[in-house]
Amino acid sequence: MKCKKCGQKAAVNMPQHRLALCKEHYLEWIPEQTERFIRKYRMFTYADRVLVAVSGGKDSLSLWDILWRLGYRADGLYIALGIDEGIGYSAESQRLTEQFAAERGLRLHVVDVRAETGKTIPEWAALTLRGREKPCAVCGLVKRHEMNRIARDLGYDVLATGHNLDDEVAVLFGNTLNWAVGYLLRQGPVLEERDGLARKVKPLCRFYEREMTAYALLRGIEYIYEECPFSVGSTSIQYKEWLNQLENERPGTKLSFYLSFLEAKEKGLFARPQEEGELHPCRRCGQPTSAPDLCAYCRMLEKAHPIPAEQVE
Ligand code: SF4
Ligand code: ZN
Ligand code: ZN
Repeated sequence: MKCKKCGQKAAVNMPQHRLALCKEHYLEWIPEQTERFIRKYRMFTYADRVLVAVSGGKDSLSLWDILWRLGYRADGLYIALGIDEGIGYSAESQRLTEQFAAERGLRLHVVDVRAETGKTIPEWAALTLRGREKPCAVCGLVKRHEMNRIARDLGYDVLATGHNLDDEVAVLFGNTLNWAVGYLLRQGPVLEERDGLARKVKPLCRFYEREMTAYALLRGIEYIYEECPFSVGSTSIQYKEWLNQLENERPGTKLSFYLSFLEAKEKGLFARPQEEGELHPCRRCGQPTSAPDLCAYCRMLEKAHPIPAEQVE
């Protein structure tokens, strides 16, 4: 297989694009395509301050690397979850993220969940779920809250996450199986700002997971290979396996499923006006919530330390 641009030996073959490229041209192609998607979906401009949510994995570190190379004003946010039993997942991913930022002279904000809330994610899960379920619901809640808080308090224009095509297609597949119209309406490369919720974008949403792995490896980015130990056996991993079987039989299936969805949405498939619940500030933290008084994050905190009424603004 030869590189389409220079005829040298190809390093990456992408049958779904009928394209093979050598290392040098692949490392050019990924940032060029990212730039194209950023413009196409009007994600942000060179004037905007971008906060990249980084986990230490290949996707988020590659995203930060690409935005930095393209010349965007992108800082990082790492949330230390305290998931350290066994392989020391959080400690190692934080080390790799800090090393990545230091090597490139980039600005990284680190939020330590234990310092912020008094407990790690597994401890919160044990308290609120009594160990019956995985901590993912609690983890998602805390991550969303902290990402929004930092973006808002530090004046970032947009929050960028490293979701790739495989992630997006697994979510789309799950939402389609359930015809979850509310979620389908909100899924896409850009989620606009709403009542104090930061604008969110996914510049890698059209790249296959294997394309991002190839980018990180060819670029020499050191990232954490292990997934979070709690991701084992999750529904989204099951969906990804099924979708990979489809993709193997018919290359391009995942991309066309996603792009046809975006096109259908554009044409108004889900245009039925949705009653979006009113959002108002949480009594304790001030972040937007549809709950009548405290947001879900503050209700979780209250379980450990009930807040005396006079401390509440
Ligand atoms: Fe959090 Fe791990 Fe669950 Fe992901 S898999 S939501 S990092 S606990
Ligand atoms: Zn080449
Ligand atoms: Zn709150």
